[in-house]
Amino acid sequence: MSSEGISAASASTIAREVKRRRTFAIISHPDAGKSTMTEALALHARMISEAGAVHGKGGRRSTVSDWMEMEKARGISVSSTALQFNYTPTGPDGREPVSDDEPNVINLVDTPGHSDFSEDTYRVLTAVDAAVMLIDAAKGLEPQTLKLFQVCRHRGIPVITVINKWDRPGRSPLELIDEITERIGLIPTPLYVPVGIAGDYRGLLDRRTGDFVKFTRTAGGSTIAPETVLSPAEALASEGDAWTAAVEESELLGEMGQDHDQEMFLAGQTSPMIFTSAMLNFGVRQLLEALVEFAPAPAGRTGIDDVERAVTDPFSAVVFKVQAGMDSSHRDRLAYMRIVSGEFERGMVVTHAQTGKPFATKYAQAVFGRDRSTVDTAYPGDVVGLVNAMALAPGDTLFTDPKVQYPPIPSFAPEHFSALRVTTADKYKQFRKAIDQLDAEGVVQVLRNDLRGDASPVLAAVGPMQFEVVTARMKTEFNVDTVIEPLGYSLARRTDEASAPELARQRGVEVFHRSDGAILALFSDKWRLQFIEKEFPSLTLAPLVAAAD
Ligand code: GDP
Repeated sequence: MSSEGISAASASTIAREVKRRRTFAIISHPDAGKSTMTEALALHARMISEAGAVHGKGGRRSTVSDWMEMEKARGISVSSTALQFNYTPTGPDGREPVSDDEPNVINLVDTPGHSDFSEDTYRVLTAVDAAVMLIDAAKGLEPQTLKLFQVCRHRGIPVITVINKWDRPGRSPLELIDEITERIGLIPTPLYVPVGIAGDYRGLLDRRTGDFVKFTRTAGGSTIAPETVLSPAEALASEGDAWTAAVEESELLGEMGQDHDQEMFLAGQTSPMIFTSAMLNFGVRQLLEALVEFAPAPAGRTGIDDVERAVTDPFSAVVFKVQAGMDSSHRDRLAYMRIVSGEFERGMVVTHAQTGKPFATKYAQAVFGRDRSTVDTAYPGDVVGLVNAMALAPGDTLFTDPKVQYPPIPSFAPEHFSALRVTTADKYKQFRKAIDQLDAEGVVQVLRNDLRGDASPVLAAVGPMQFEVVTARMKTEFNVDTVIEPLGYSLARRTDEASAPELARQRGVEVFHRSDGAILALFSDKWRLQFIEKEFPSLTLAPLVAAAD
């Protein structure tokens, strides 16, 4: 089928679809409640009718099985990469939609979780328009949240802050606000102030109306928590000191200028803040409504030739993740693309910008674990999985004419460094081919220098799981046995040709070329780096922030 055979959706249809879409990711540290919140969001979107079979039992689950179990238990189809659901704002007390508009379409793109933190975790953030930073009320900012936040900042992704587990003892709202302001320079602008301290979550003071939204617990938190709206006078009568404290906090925030400002939010300076209990489904509706109201709809992007592609222009998409070997029975490779412009129809033939070759999209799918469902039509902001996408790598562009090519996805600051060595002597040629392939796919960063030669390149990764993927694929796909030998380096800096020779002479430092042309200096530890920075202030040593380049 040729793309001309397909009736292109009119610009007005596309514009309408774009306007109702929101594409976001949840960034959090393990255990902050991302899975529970995802389920709570699905509950509010009526994708599932009851929560609790999964999270009510209290035990920890693995990320993959969260989704698996959720699907098994609910009979819903969710993708491990993107969960799409419709949501119609309902208003505070209601089960009734507040408007006759079409429902919003929400795409929740999953950041691969927890133990398998890797470059993919960061790449996902190139596919979203907003992020929800989910924080445990008792723990505050944690390392993984910080790393992911830095990527959001670097990419200019606006962030909504959610303080979760407010039903459990934790810090005070002002303490949490201070911590966020001081440590990351993001100014929280609470949309609501919780009534009742952490551990005694009664409801929310709506800072825009001044009213009290009172929550009622449901058995095991398994269904949507009913809300009652009370006037300030009624709230005072019913909640006493807890209400007065919330009013005072809200006033204080107002005096400090911490009210929502859409422009500052979109500029990444402020962050609307919401207090939730994902477990009890408190504040979840408020989060969805904030996403719909404040998070930006998908926007066009600029190609490498500086040409702007508007969302209503012909189809284009960016590949942000490639997953190989999900199905062990055949060599399967799945590429996930985020649609940037136009309408996608399954079966259309698009062009792969990097090779100029046509790419057939007959097998476009929404993917969940081993289960896949076909996607027929999709719009900007949506995520579509392409099966058997052997030629596609993260950062690649697909388009229909006119041509567009988007800038590559940057490589991210690696923190783990290992040498890779072949153990089967006669497989050297295959080894090199495999390394080039895995490098091109973005599975891991490959670093080389003359000293080590090609036989033993150094692999650099954001998470150690990436190394395991390399050795496993070397064996299964290329039939090459390899071993990983951890190196004594823990951080990297970007340097240049002029500084490289001096750096290479230093103890505890090694200089490499990365395949994208960057020159990286690896350091044994931060003290070594600090020492060299002090000793040789003229050397170029640029930090690779979470999102480098
Ligand atoms: P993830 O690792 O971020 O996906 O976190 P989970 O959703 O698996 O939650 C980790 C633990 O915290 C689980 O035991 C949840 O039941 C619990 N949890 C999540 N959200 C809440 C909440 O709002 N309140 C309470 N009390 N527990 C929660």
